[in-house]
Amino acid sequence: MLLPLPLPCAYDYALPGPVAVKRGTLVRAPLGGRELIGVVWGNPEGEVPQEKLRLAEPLDQFRLPLALCDFIDWVARYTLSPAGAVLAQALRVRGAFDAEAPRRALMIGSGTPSRMTPARERVLNMMQDGLARTLPEIVEQASVSPGVASGLAESGALKFVELPEFERCPEPDYSFDAVKLSPDQLRAAEHFRDAVKKREFSVALLDGVTGSGKTEAYFEAVAEAVVEGRQALILLPEIALTVQFLDRFAARFGCRPLEWHSDLSSRERKRVYRAVLSGEAQVVIGARSALFLPFSKLGLIVVDEEHEQAYKQEEGVIYHARDMAVVRARLENCAIVLASATPSLETYANAKSGRYEWLKLAHRHGAAEMPEVRLVDMRSEHGETGQFLSPALRAGLDLSLRAGDQALLFLNRRGYAPLPLCTVCGRKETCRHCSAWMVEHRYRKRLVCHHCAYETAIPERCLQCGAENSLIACGPGVERVEEEFRAAFPDARVAIASSDTFLGPAQMQATLRAFAAGDIDVVIGTQIVAKGHHFPRLTLAGIIDADIGGGIGDPRAAERSFQLLHQVAGRSGRGDRPGLVLIQTRNPEDPVMQALAQGRRDAFLEEELRLRERSMIPPFARLASLILAGTDAIHVRETGRELALAAPKVHGLAVWGPAPAFYQLLRGRTRERLLVQAEKTVDIQAYLRSWLSKVKIPSNVRLTVDIDPISFF
Ligand code: ADP
Ligand code: ZN
Repeated sequence: MLLPLPLPCAYDYALPGPVAVKRGTLVRAPLGGRELIGVVWGNPEGEVPQEKLRLAEPLDQFRLPLALCDFIDWVARYTLSPAGAVLAQALRVRGAFDAEAPRRALMIGSGTPSRMTPARERVLNMMQDGLARTLPEIVEQASVSPGVASGLAESGALKFVELPEFERCPEPDYSFDAVKLSPDQLRAAEHFRDAVKKREFSVALLDGVTGSGKTEAYFEAVAEAVVEGRQALILLPEIALTVQFLDRFAARFGCRPLEWHSDLSSRERKRVYRAVLSGEAQVVIGARSALFLPFSKLGLIVVDEEHEQAYKQEEGVIYHARDMAVVRARLENCAIVLASATPSLETYANAKSGRYEWLKLAHRHGAAEMPEVRLVDMRSEHGETGQFLSPALRAGLDLSLRAGDQALLFLNRRGYAPLPLCTVCGRKETCRHCSAWMVEHRYRKRLVCHHCAYETAIPERCLQCGAENSLIACGPGVERVEEEFRAAFPDARVAIASSDTFLGPAQMQATLRAFAAGDIDVVIGTQIVAKGHHFPRLTLAGIIDADIGGGIGDPRAAERSFQLLHQVAGRSGRGDRPGLVLIQTRNPEDPVMQALAQGRRDAFLEEELRLRERSMIPPFARLASLILAGTDAIHVRETGRELALAAPKVHGLAVWGPAPAFYQLLRGRTRERLLVQAEKTVDIQAYLRSWLSKVKIPSNVRLTVDIDPISFF
């Protein structure tokens, strides 16, 4: 019996009755003083004698699909996590298996009210259609007070009925509004349709330039799954992307799909979870956690923007949702489509070698052309000191505003300025809990740490030398660029769109809507606006500082930088007017900048592949990162040294470190890292298991194992 807890193994329980109970059967199992939902995982180990076992109660109606159980085992083995911790990802819904709580509703009854009023008449007229409505629905639709409806119920003119807890899921209509596809799209779509029909494992890379209509192409695969009566899962990297996406889905299929992400209410979660399990849910759009939903007849997975870092879960069970999606598709025997304009090197290499089918969309949809990309060398073309909009960018903005077009200014830094500095003594404000600088948020008059969210008021005096009002802002943040923009273009309508918690997701959605509707001329945004969005009037994308983002000692820095800047550039010129991209940089010779300016993506990827092959990093080798963290710095360091000493020597594998992590102090914990680098033929999991079993990690030090790390902080 597997319990959804990070326990080292499954536990034995007794079951009532002689019937054999199958793997995946859900049970209520006692543990200590509480009762948990657990899952029958396999035959009992038999170490505890039968009469001592506690009794678990099977839930008759519910069973986790076998392929999901296998998937959970697979992820646990691969990530070196306890299977119970992975199971917890699949059982995240409170009350998921509780009996339904029916909703009370009213219908027309046979009685007549003693007295008629205009309000009562309105209600009765409306209810003549025989439909059941809940009290709030009646109140709203007939504009009456709740008392009117309950009065009618008392007299028997309306009667109470019970409706199921949840309304039926909307059913996507595969033929609702199929668009006419371009020949390239059609070729891809036909390939996907066949792949779904075959009901076999297959992986395809949908590699299309920004604005080429990748979504339209893979919607045909979704349509095919619906036709075949199979379920489809579409994974998106950021849930903020979904508003436009849901509308597009509705335009194609006549209804919104079900959603799965962390912002759902617990009632919605229960509804979606049960509909997925019963097979009623046909299409689900979700964030990475949707990968653990109990689909019973999965026929297709789509991973949109497959290169996105957001697919990596960095806490708890550490996994990469794109990679695990491929695994799930294999276990489900179904088709998977990875879509991107800037595929990850891993996926690119798999497509090149023929392991993945490679479908290309080389042109933008309709008349739209790829935008022109120009580099602005900030060493010679900068404006006045302390300004971040170069003369070239100002001229571009001016043109764009005069033409009535829209522009996007991109800067991947929230807040006003990343580094408040004392002009008298040079002190930089750092976080108390992290080795990171505080960021000034001028709207809120606070200094904020972007790692642990620690905040303080902006000090009036320097905390070191006591000088008054001596802090100045160093470097740009979106708020500071907005200030400069407003001063230069006082009549333009401008807004910030960043993932800042202060503004909140609702505010950001509103900004993006207003931008799409043309009520805003210029958006200044962080990466949240860079991706996926389609604003046809946007003809200028300005990148304020293309040089930030390169992590130190991070082998994926160039790839990531290229992907992000390429995505930003891809927002420009998607409609019928030509687009321009201005990239401000101090390193115009950098291969990333050159590749962007010349539109030579594949040359860039090839060069990156060569570099990685030479330095033996993925996709040519395997990495695992071990992070030790704890409040007792000496203990953490000692444990690191002990671990390194205990590492078995194996051919084709090297262990580096321990070394202080990039953020040596994070949320009050000291951090040390070790890096394992292995040839592809080495079973890195087996190696880690045997190594880690030899070392006792003290209870005040936490060890995190990250297989295939993508963050090197
Ligand atoms: P990508 O995801 O490849 O960047 P999108 O899927 O956002 O591109 O498509 C860009 C725009 O072109 C969208 O507005 C989309 O609705 C439109 N589009 C794409 N293909 C078609 C088509 N075959 N017919 C009509 N509109 C299309
Ligand atoms: Zn901090």
